[in-house]
Amino acid sequence: MSATEQITLGNVVGGETVPSVAGRLEDVIDPATEEVIARVPLGDADDVARAVEAAAKAAPEWGRATPATRAQALLELADRLDAHADELTGLESRNAGKPRAAAAEEIPLCSDHLRFFAGAARVLEGKATGEYLEGYTSSIRREPVGVVGQITPWNYPLAMAVWKIAPALAAGNAIVLKPSELTPLTTIRLAELAADLLPPGTLNVVTGHGDPVGTSIVTHPQVRMVSLTGSVGTGKAIARAAADTLARVHLELGGKAPVVVLDDADVDAVVANLRVSSFFNAGQDCTAACRVIATPKVHDRLLEALVPAAESLRVGDPSEDGVELGPVISQRQRERVLGFVERAAAAGAEVLTGGRAVGERGFFVAPTVVANPAQDSEIVQQEVFGPVVSVQRAADADQALAWANDSAYGLSASVWTRDVGQALRFTRELDFGCVWVNDHLPFLSEMPHGGFGQSGYGKDLSAYALEEYTRIKHVMFNLGE
Ligand code: NAD
Repeated sequence: MSATEQITLGNVVGGETVPSVAGRLEDVIDPATEEVIARVPLGDADDVARAVEAAAKAAPEWGRATPATRAQALLELADRLDAHADELTGLESRNAGKPRAAAAEEIPLCSDHLRFFAGAARVLEGKATGEYLEGYTSSIRREPVGVVGQITPWNYPLAMAVWKIAPALAAGNAIVLKPSELTPLTTIRLAELAADLLPPGTLNVVTGHGDPVGTSIVTHPQVRMVSLTGSVGTGKAIARAAADTLARVHLELGGKAPVVVLDDADVDAVVANLRVSSFFNAGQDCTAACRVIATPKVHDRLLEALVPAAESLRVGDPSEDGVELGPVISQRQRERVLGFVERAAAAGAEVLTGGRAVGERGFFVAPTVVANPAQDSEIVQQEVFGPVVSVQRAADADQALAWANDSAYGLSASVWTRDVGQALRFTRELDFGCVWVNDHLPFLSEMPHGGFGQSGYGKDLSAYALEEYTRIKHVMFNLGE
């Protein structure tokens, strides 16, 4: 797509690309240039109803397909993503403002997730058949849930769509998927690429806003499960709304990951990691290393090295080679991020670098380091979702642990130490769904991703995600003996 070219995309319903029922369209913006790059359907409840009908029609056939058949479709979809890697990279980079190299790295990860779930589909099993009551044989059937609604955010649009659809399809469900209104392009392409690999209606995409499209998915009586990756507020709204239909709810919400750096840590390794893990994707990552807590012997050295490391990041046009930090997603998000930094400074923290917009156009924010915020301050307690890292000095390891756990969020955390005993203690005590030791950020298809506390419930990735998308049926045979 050239800088000025605009495309108009449709929804994908029943295997076809279609306009919205009301025929309305919405502009999609490139956050690096503020230009309109595409137009997509602006959906409403009628679009959801049409997509749910298509999914409900497809669900029995897909649910009965053998695991081998489902696996084959996922493997072919993975190959297709790889074959369209350049196109998807370009779309994702422009729509989400990701440096091109970073967007390109996501494609093989997405195809790997699809291949993992293709394999997992074939080893999913219920409990072995057996006799638990005299004269009876029991068995367990693992069944698909049925029609599943899935709602994704704007920070990793394609990857989050793949994280959602891969286990759901592997388990035999039919899907109505709503991407973020800000970043719908690669999700639509994903569904178009899958259209002839799946029975029509198995994977439907409806674009539009949380209200009415998201809300209509959640409250539709035929939708038996809703899976969201998004903010805590949206998660709570969905959990409340789903109470009416008692649809199963799966929530991957925000994070405020602490990075505990103890006195014996390798500070150079920590700083090299933070240069990536605090600022990757312009800090718009639910696991971003955004809350460093260092003990006295390493605190000053760490700050001295972190500020130049942050300043060395190349901020700019995501299509240029070597750019490491693109824009945040929107003007609103930039104002939100800078507002957090201003209020932190007003509350007594020191902004050592950044805290300002960059460039004439596009929603760029300079990499920002905030020192010495109070534990109960907003910047320590609330998710900023931008290129901002705070650094606190804890008196000792016990206080560092207490501060790390003093958070409503519980998605991920890391601890940096050479002491095996401390490392083991922290992995046990840190109240987070993922804990890294001497690293921060890596994830993989085989291991679960999901939080505790206000970070939600349910797991993405891994065999645990596959189980989320199944229901358990007990079958009992009277042997008539
Ligand atoms: P958001 O909650 O604003 O939106 C997420 C999705 O929900 C969008 O598609 C939106 O249109 C939809 N939505 C909004 N209100 C809704 C409603 N009432 N009913 C149904 N759907 C509704 O989040 P965002 O700003 O797009 O994404 C950023 C958030 O996502 C951050 O909090 C981030 O931490 C979180 N996130 C979490 C993970 C994870 O795995 N835990 C991964 C990525 C992002």
